[in-house]
Amino acid sequence: MTIKEALNQGKTILKSKEDGSLISKMLLGYILELSKEELIVNSNVNLSEEQKEKFLKGIELVLNGYPVQYITKTREFMGLSFYVDENVLIPRPDTEVLVENIMSISKEYNKSDILELCTGSGAIAVSLAKYLDNINITATDISSKALEVAKKNANSLLENTKIKFIQSDMFKNITERYDIIISNPPYIKTKVIDEYNLEYEPKLALDGGKDGLEFYRIIINEGYKYLKQDGIIAIEIGYDQRCEVMNLAQNSGRYKECNCIKDLCGNDRVIIIK
Ligand code: GLN
Repeated sequence: MTIKEALNQGKTILKSKEDGSLISKMLLGYILELSKEELIVNSNVNLSEEQKEKFLKGIELVLNGYPVQYITKTREFMGLSFYVDENVLIPRPDTEVLVENIMSISKEYNKSDILELCTGSGAIAVSLAKYLDNINITATDISSKALEVAKKNANSLLENTKIKFIQSDMFKNITERYDIIISNPPYIKTKVIDEYNLEYEPKLALDGGKDGLEFYRIIINEGYKYLKQDGIIAIEIGYDQRCEVMNLAQNSGRYKECNCIKDLCGNDRVIIIK
């Protein structure tokens, strides 16, 4: 079987998925250690039996809902190649909106001390550290395994690691105050997780409790204690959580202002609380 034939077969097996062709290329590129361009140039090269078997096994896994990124162990985010495994949620493109807004806010208002809660793979913290100068970032997660992944990404993507990692259940082990608290916490309703095809990603990273708001309550009701003067909270939300999260902020009586920013698909995605 040639590279071209393998890619065609992968695409056919994954015909129910709109990105079947791309997934096939990602998988085969990973197995053969070739870039997408190199796959095209070498399209008539034959696969070994072992490579073919590995490829078709991977395609089968993806067909059953297993994320291809857990096989290739990589995910692009903010133009960087992050290591991912089953201990962390695979970073979503939507989350780039949160990072980009914090980059502008940090520059515009000269805010340099940042706390990230629920860092997971470290995609947010590492991107901020990569693209912003003169900042101090503290990244936390309840999961020691997730923190290992985040540290691995910080070490491989940053020249000098500007991130301090703390294992903490939300604010429990936090003692300092920050200019910005940023988080993409678990926000899917427990009931919805089972209906979603998310069974391979860590529930811990997705489950926002009965109403999906459990972690927003903690961030909003306790966050002000960990903010400096004129501090900012920036959180990712589910597309349908704008009113509920804004109400939490307003009802807490601790903040002056609250705005919502949409993602590139036009969905409500980020809430900025001042
Ligand atoms: N956006 C993710 C999803 O819909 C959920 C991320 C989260 O819970 N923080 O799969």
